[in-house]
Amino acid sequence: MKYADVIVDIAQGSLDRIFQYRIPDGMGEELTEGTPVYVPFGRGNRLVKGYITGFSDQTSYQPEGLKEIHSVIRGEMSIEQRLLSLAVWMKQRYGCTMIQAMKTVTPVKKKVKPRVERVLMRTVSTGEILDYLHTHVKKNQTARIRLLQALASDEQIPYEAVLHKLNISKSALDSVIQAGLARLEEKRNMKEAEGGPVVPHVVLNEEQEKAVSQFVRDFDRGQPGVTLLHGITGSGKTEVYMEMIAHILSRGRQVIMLIPEISLTYQTVMRFYRRFGSRVAFIHSRLSQGERYDQFERARNGQVSIMIGPRSALFTPFPRLGLIVIDEEHEGAYKNETVPRYHAVDVAKRLAEMTGAGLVLGSATPSVDTYARAVRGDYKLDRLTRRAQEGSRLAAVSVVDLREELKAGNRSIFSRRLFAGITQRLEQKEQVMLFLNRRGYSSFVSCRSCGEAIKCPHCDVSLKAHRNGMLVCHYCGYTAPIPRLCPSCGSPYIAGFGTGTQKVEEAAVKMFPKARILRMDQDTTGGKDGHEKILSAFMAHEADILIGTQMIVKGHDFPDVTLVAALAADLSLYADDFRGAERTFQLLTQAAGRSGRRGRPGEMLIQTYVPEHYSIRAAAEQDYEMFFREEMSYRRLMDYPPCTEMVSVTVSSRREELAKEGAALIAGKLGDFCQTGLTVIGPADPGITKINDIFYQIVYFKSGDSRLILQAVNEIESYYEWTDLKKNVMIQFDFK
Ligand code: ADP
Ligand code: ZN
Ligand code: ZN
Repeated sequence: MKYADVIVDIAQGSLDRIFQYRIPDGMGEELTEGTPVYVPFGRGNRLVKGYITGFSDQTSYQPEGLKEIHSVIRGEMSIEQRLLSLAVWMKQRYGCTMIQAMKTVTPVKKKVKPRVERVLMRTVSTGEILDYLHTHVKKNQTARIRLLQALASDEQIPYEAVLHKLNISKSALDSVIQAGLARLEEKRNMKEAEGGPVVPHVVLNEEQEKAVSQFVRDFDRGQPGVTLLHGITGSGKTEVYMEMIAHILSRGRQVIMLIPEISLTYQTVMRFYRRFGSRVAFIHSRLSQGERYDQFERARNGQVSIMIGPRSALFTPFPRLGLIVIDEEHEGAYKNETVPRYHAVDVAKRLAEMTGAGLVLGSATPSVDTYARAVRGDYKLDRLTRRAQEGSRLAAVSVVDLREELKAGNRSIFSRRLFAGITQRLEQKEQVMLFLNRRGYSSFVSCRSCGEAIKCPHCDVSLKAHRNGMLVCHYCGYTAPIPRLCPSCGSPYIAGFGTGTQKVEEAAVKMFPKARILRMDQDTTGGKDGHEKILSAFMAHEADILIGTQMIVKGHDFPDVTLVAALAADLSLYADDFRGAERTFQLLTQAAGRSGRRGRPGEMLIQTYVPEHYSIRAAAEQDYEMFFREEMSYRRLMDYPPCTEMVSVTVSSRREELAKEGAALIAGKLGDFCQTGLTVIGPADPGITKINDIFYQIVYFKSGDSRLILQAVNEIESYYEWTDLKKNVMIQFDFK
């Protein structure tokens, strides 16, 4: 290689400005993507720091006019270099460009006026707050009531939590300030729980204590490793994370904690503020680029030591990272759905290795992949098997067979049992949550009499209904017309699973005319703070029934909810290709955890056409082990991950025939490359074949031998690099 692409000082921003430099004789050996170098820059040839981002043999400039790299910078890895080498790794693993990878790992630099972070401080006693609440506030002033109740339990609440999480308008806030009940101060004054009078620590139970002390021991020995914390809902996982975090801070290191955005409620945010005061910061998707950059700078220069946020929080530039926690590690939100298609757990593992940090994955329903690794001994495994709070019990779960409803002439979405359950809760002034566990578009077709979904004869995944009336397998391309009668039982009640939350709401309004009903889905949460508005209203018991997609059952803790129902559990069962059963089990189990969280007994109903399916039975028993055994034998039988490794190659082009041609070439190449040990599937149509005028095709390949998988990835990469393919199509890898 004669020339190197160099990006100059990424901290200064614009990633698109890449310069070519000549590589001096003898230096080539030392250079790889990510290597920091000094290069002469600008008119005066001032030496500036840059990073290598790629190599080439040709240049479109006058070769003699190009400047030469001055020298390689040696020494300890800087934060930039660490992020860059992470970008290099992502580029190789996911087949994206270096620029795409760098844009993922470095925040866009946008200066904002440094914001003074503020905190709302209560200036009177709890008793006075409550007095004021009862004597001065009218029943319909819901925001004011919410704020005063919050102030009664917390002396200090960060301003952004008041605004975005509690959803208090400025006028409601002003009225409370003017009444002399609270005032705004700089957040720097915010106290941490230690030493402060705030909340008493809980005393960890034996299982929690064991998880913490093992982690502390291994970390202090310099072997933090990866830990799976498998604890049922409400078993006290968050308390365990907080103890671990406190230990890491005491060692002078920093912590990144990922929480799915939807679970980052007021309650969760406040738990961390109470414990860690102003040392904790949050990022979320509604921050502007400048605000986000500002948060990252605060992490870089030591103003905060804990960053909590969605998957992009992984790229927080902490100088000495000590721990990454991923809560609800099974969540789909950790998978990036745009290029590069990385999974947060995957990247976190790499980052933890690079920095000597520990990685803790927590879940009540770990992904099958993670659990399989823990069982194999690749991860440490800690279990929390009991609810942490005195008197708290898991909900009683029962399954309602919708085929029986159909036989009895009830075609509505409410089974007789559910109807009775809701009626009773309304009388008792308790709350109900009704959800549809749909993901993306659930376009499979199933029979309402026998419950069978129509599957591909070759792949054992459900066929998807396309608009033209045909059923298509997205794995192998098999196509068949939609039958008029069920192939298993001959019933004519065969249909796409089309119910939406809006229809459910309409039905509920008719059936329960006196109930106050809230709906939460993509349509109702569009605006700023949309989720929080609905959730905080439901939390304050401003409605009796909450209807929504699965997002309503994720991580929230509503004290008055005593009945939760999955209206059609089958929705997620066939919607998700080979992970459908896993998603269904996870959703149902998580949902059961939402019912009856504080003392009062909870109930969960699962309505389904396939009550005998193991994912539904295991969810009803809340038996993870049973689910895992059954699921693993299915995965083994079908040769799906984690029993094999599976990679999908997405081939895209502006021209349909080129995408198809490219996919066929790659499938052919894979076939030649190793006749044995590698199974190649496709080319096939992906779920959506055209987005923004770009056409997509997919090739899958899988093997039990992970080295073979990596070889195959490299083989396609180099084949792709050196043929005409590169000009016309894009390829990306997606590790399943
Ligand atoms: P998870 O994260 O597993 O859902 P949490 O950490 O949120 O569980 O704990 C559930 C509830 O139990 C919380 O209200 C928490 O304060 C409480 N809790 C956790 N650990 C203990 C403990 N050791 N003793 C008493 N209460 C606890
Ligand atoms: Zn049937
Ligand atoms: Zn198929």
